Amino acid sequence: MKRIIEFFAANKKLTAILFAFIIVGAFLSGAYFWFSENGGMTLMPQKVSVVIDAGHGGKDVGASYGGRNEKDDNLRLALKVVDCLEKKGIDAISTRTLDVYLSLENRCRFANIRSADLFVSLHRNSAASEANGVEIWIGSENSSDERKLAQSIIDSLDEVGISANRGVKSGYAREGNDYYVNSHTKMTSCLVELGFITSEADNKLYDEKIDEYAQAIADAIEMQLNNKS
Ligand SMILES: [Zn+2]
Repeated sequence: MKRIIEFFAANKKLTAILFAFIIVGAFLSGAYFWFSENGGMTLMPQKVSVVIDAGHGGKDVGASYGGRNEKDDNLRLALKVVDCLEKKGIDAISTRTLDVYLSLENRCRFANIRSADLFVSLHRNSAASEANGVEIWIGSENSSDERKLAQSIIDSLDEVGISANRGVKSGYAREGNDYYVNSHTKMTSCLVELGFITSEADNKLYDEKIDEYAQAIADAIEMQLNNKS
């Protein structure tokens, strides 16, 4: 130890350079992790096969009902879907792994810079009046791959058990042309509204069958990837 100290004392220039490297290195890796966590630019984004988008997050709670927030349901399911995909050997990543805010623009950029093949956004629906069931949205200018992906996800979920199959829909539920993530991602994409958070029955199903739902979504994604290759 004494020798090391003596060495650095004798080589002040080298010591200064070494410290500069450590500080710059720490700063760059910190910045890298901050950017990746926030879905922004990364230094060297790796290609991934599938991006699972956990809708909402942080200050954006999504729909809520009786103290239950959509953002938490979406994250819970997204992490499980990624887990199921990884167990199949499919390279998958979630847009967020924590309760953080991500803009729609950053979610799309996250998938686009990784040249993902598939993008599946997970959401829960809500309604002021009584409504229940699952529906999946694709862009108004959809490809046959998008129709196939959405259809096989909803079929797969239907097999597990859902309160109602509301089908595959194109465009946007409210005003406007398309869901932002459908029109701004460059790959095959769809947006899953997995039951109504405003429906007690759907929430019960969601909690009881979340593992099966995750598996069903992963199975449909796997099928889609296999069909393509
Ligand atoms: Zn949502």
